[in-house]
Amino acid sequence: MKLILLGPPGAGKGTQAQKLVADFGYAQLSTGDMLRAAIAAGSEMGQKVKGIMDRGDLVSDDIVVGIISERIDAPDCAKGFILDGFPRNGAQAEALDKMLDEKGMKLDVVISLEVVEKDLFARIEQRAKETVGGPRADDNVKALKKRLEIYHEQTAPLIKYYGDQGVLKTVDGMAQIDAVSAQIAKILAEV
Ligand code: ADP
Repeated sequence: MKLILLGPPGAGKGTQAQKLVADFGYAQLSTGDMLRAAIAAGSEMGQKVKGIMDRGDLVSDDIVVGIISERIDAPDCAKGFILDGFPRNGAQAEALDKMLDEKGMKLDVVISLEVVEKDLFARIEQRAKETVGGPRADDNVKALKKRLEIYHEQTAPLIKYYGDQGVLKTVDGMAQIDAVSAQIAKILAEV
């Protein structure tokens, strides 16, 4: 199973991806987590992306396309993988299509988590409080506004892109976590 979780920051993509890892053994490929790991490791790439991420801007397509392309060849992706936070714009979506095509792979489904945007601020505030080791540098009102702006400009158009490909499904991201997981499990059972 190869799927994308699509939705604005704080929609619950990471939470749902982790449940899918536990329940089905798929690999979670979160570009945000991978970039944060590169920053924590102090790698050259990490140093390059830190300021960009802290502001809530997107890092360059080359970087994220490169890390995803390498990552999906790893053995833990054999059962399937969940793309979480990638693709985030049209160029990345097209690069992904091309990459999968070249690897002889095919996307099974794209699940869009629909949320009420004004509630995302409270969710992110809550996450900032609960994060062990202190809040993420971009979990603050200013960076979140920027992330939402970019989401609308660049990521939301992917809903139409995947709708046109006939692979889009939507779930109510405002439901309880387990109810969202149940909706996702039902979709996966049907594809
Ligand atoms: P969220 O979905 O909660 O906004 P993520 O953890 O997915 O957060 O991403 C955090 C930041 O990492 C983004 O604001 C961006 O700077 C960078 N990032 C993650 N994925 C991508 C991507 N596919 N393209 C460009 N930048 C990305």
